[in-house]
Amino acid sequence: MPTSRFTTLLILLSLIFSTPILSQSADADHIKEAVSQADVEFNIYFLAADEFLGRDTGTQELKIASRYIATWFQTNGIETAPGYDSYFQNVPFQRLREPDRGVVAFGDSTFTLNRDFVALNSERGSFDAPFIVLEYGSREELSEQNVEGKIVITATGLEGQSSPQQFFYTAGQKREWAKEAGAVALIELFSTRQLPWQFLVNFLGGDRVALYEGGDNEEGSIPHLWMNATQADIKGFLTASDAESADFELIGEEPEKFYSRNVIGIIEGTDPELKDEYLLLSAHYDHIGVVAGHPEPITSEYIFNGARDNAVGTAGVLAAGKYLSQNPPKRSIILAAWTAEEIGLLGSNYFAENPMIPLEQIVYNLNIDGAGYNDTTKVTVIGLGRTEADPEMKAAAESFGLEAIPDPVPEQNLFDRSDNVSFARQGIPAPTYSMGLTAFDEEINYYYHQVTDEPHTINYNYVTAYIRSFVLAAQKIANRDEAPFWMPGDVYEEAGIELYNRQ
Ligand SMILES: [Zn+2]
Repeated sequence: MPTSRFTTLLILLSLIFSTPILSQSADADHIKEAVSQADVEFNIYFLAADEFLGRDTGTQELKIASRYIATWFQTNGIETAPGYDSYFQNVPFQRLREPDRGVVAFGDSTFTLNRDFVALNSERGSFDAPFIVLEYGSREELSEQNVEGKIVITATGLEGQSSPQQFFYTAGQKREWAKEAGAVALIELFSTRQLPWQFLVNFLGGDRVALYEGGDNEEGSIPHLWMNATQADIKGFLTASDAESADFELIGEEPEKFYSRNVIGIIEGTDPELKDEYLLLSAHYDHIGVVAGHPEPITSEYIFNGARDNAVGTAGVLAAGKYLSQNPPKRSIILAAWTAEEIGLLGSNYFAENPMIPLEQIVYNLNIDGAGYNDTTKVTVIGLGRTEADPEMKAAAESFGLEAIPDPVPEQNLFDRSDNVSFARQGIPAPTYSMGLTAFDEEINYYYHQVTDEPHTINYNYVTAYIRSFVLAAQKIANRDEAPFWMPGDVYEEAGIELYNRQ
């Protein structure tokens, strides 16, 4: 019958022309069914509960949160990383105490701790040693000059660098090179106007937590100072001065060493070739603890629950893990919950320096973190427009009635302020998938890093849709034929070309 032949034709046509659309919406429908709002609510209410005392790095409460995440991995069929028998990556930290005394004297000229210089690391020392003034103290310069037994004085950072972030990032390397070359201390002359000196003193001056350097069995490093050179031309003074040696004194308590954990899980991909490539899905699970000077026993109004920041993101990674382990995509997945984001992106930084999967096999990092939301019709992708995965992220958001928008406040440099930058810097394309943020307005500031960021203040219809769209974006990216790279001209493109050996 013509009618039935016509129907057959329609079915055939729909199969031929609409398969991608059908399968796309089928994925979204499947995710809607499988990623339940109950799971999302459970995970956010649990991780942001008062009993976790704000999930501060180094606390027993954060350790329990890490156990919860690992147990979720274990009971949802997620593997440990190849060659590891645990989901935990132990990250070594040190609690640095403010030095009791710090003075460096070149002849009659005396420089004082936290006025003229700050101590970058925990190494202490008291000695009289000759000094040498170099340009930048590059590896080459340090190996060409005789710096054995000397205090090395250089400009901050390396040639061509001008931002404080770069200075911080390069500092550890330079210290390592100086130590290798036999120097006894490193003094960098800090002279950028991008960061006021007093800000640096406040940030580095008191007690603080940093990554522990040198590993478990190696000896420590050398004392490393940044000296304020914005006021006076110290370099000119030192070069002209008669003094050949300096009296160096930096004394104080030894730092306390402790461990905190990154939690890492793996889902193997289904494609025999593409499974050697990994999509990294990450969220930090730490937060900023409790209000200093709170009364005992502590009550709810003194606890930074960190529901938006970042129990939501952690719940997103947990949801993606559960769904993708049951519906594995072509590429393999790394699920990561980072510690110590709030104190300087330290957990992700440690993983990037000590990866459990070779970095060149990690083709993309979709990070999930944010300050909060003020628009429940949007997803804000910090890094939209910077990698080739825009179509996947936009379509994923749209499938759940949301619109993906780019960073509304580029002047705040949010891209370089979350864990994604630990990987971007290595060349891995790495946006952060945030909740709908259109401006840093009253709504955002009411919750952002405030004790008001509690689980009962969240719109779970919205957050569930947002998390479902994150899972779909991850699935789409992991199933792409080609891994998405940086857009041409991006500041991290060069690092990517080098990492992946692209021509
Ligand atoms: Zn935060």
